[in-house]
Amino acid sequence: QPPVILCIGMAGSGKTTFMQRINAHLHAKKTPPYVVNLDPAVGNLPFTANIDVRDTVNYKEVMKQYNLGPNGGILTSLNLFTTKFDQVLDLIAKRADSVSHILVDTPGQIEIFTWSASGSIITDTLASTYPTVIAYIIDTPRTTAPATFMSNMLYACSILYKTKLPFILVFNKTDVVSHEFAVEWMTDFEKFQEALSHDTTYMSSLMNSMSLVLDEFYSHLKVVGVSAVTGNGVEDFFAAVDEAAVEYER
Ligand code: GDP
Ligand code: MG
Repeated sequence: QPPVILCIGMAGSGKTTFMQRINAHLHAKKTPPYVVNLDPAVGNLPFTANIDVRDTVNYKEVMKQYNLGPNGGILTSLNLFTTKFDQVLDLIAKRADSVSHILVDTPGQIEIFTWSASGSIITDTLASTYPTVIAYIIDTPRTTAPATFMSNMLYACSILYKTKLPFILVFNKTDVVSHEFAVEWMTDFEKFQEALSHDTTYMSSLMNSMSLVLDEFYSHLKVVGVSAVTGNGVEDFFAAVDEAAVEYER
């Protein structure tokens, strides 16, 4: 079975741009993927999707009809789409033999997917049939402050424990800032403590103890640095996916 790559991450971290990059990479290698867009609110999709939630639901109409704001509209659209997810699975199954990977883009706002019933249903049903890997996309330039880094890691940690799926931390936008600092913080606990000690925000003592929790989390992950814009690191990413797919089987 082809592995599913579920792209999850904070709004603006670069999920959609990364999808475009890995899609183009697989096409160039003549091993095309199957592509699913689950973001009802994306304006312009920079890749061709085999299945696009926007073909089934119009989130602006849903907002009007149910008298909802943008987030409610997106969530309700995803819920409506999920009621038909069995049909999506059938469509994917028909093509599973001839595609290398199944790529899934998720809504901009992370919690719409990670903390909703539809997000869980979609994740669990995919994971019950295909080796499913979470690609957690991180906006590297925006996570250089120790406090931000820590909260992003804790969020990733909560998703890992919720889904219990193989997990790849994808540090994106390395064309702007290298992810070396992150690797250092994740591998050398004292370096992170040192960085925290210069962070004078009110939470730094809380974070000192939280960072102990993260040490355990880090040992369960794969880490890659990429640039969705330049394509740097994409080979490393696919190597991590291969390993993660093996881990899924285990
Ligand atoms: P999403 O909300 O997670 O789907 O994020 P998008 O893919 O829409 O990207 C958000 C913004 O980040 C856009 O302006 C992208 O051009 C930019 N972006 C995405 N990936 C990269 C990258 O690797 N490098 C740089 N410099 N910008 C990026
Ligand atoms: Mg997007």
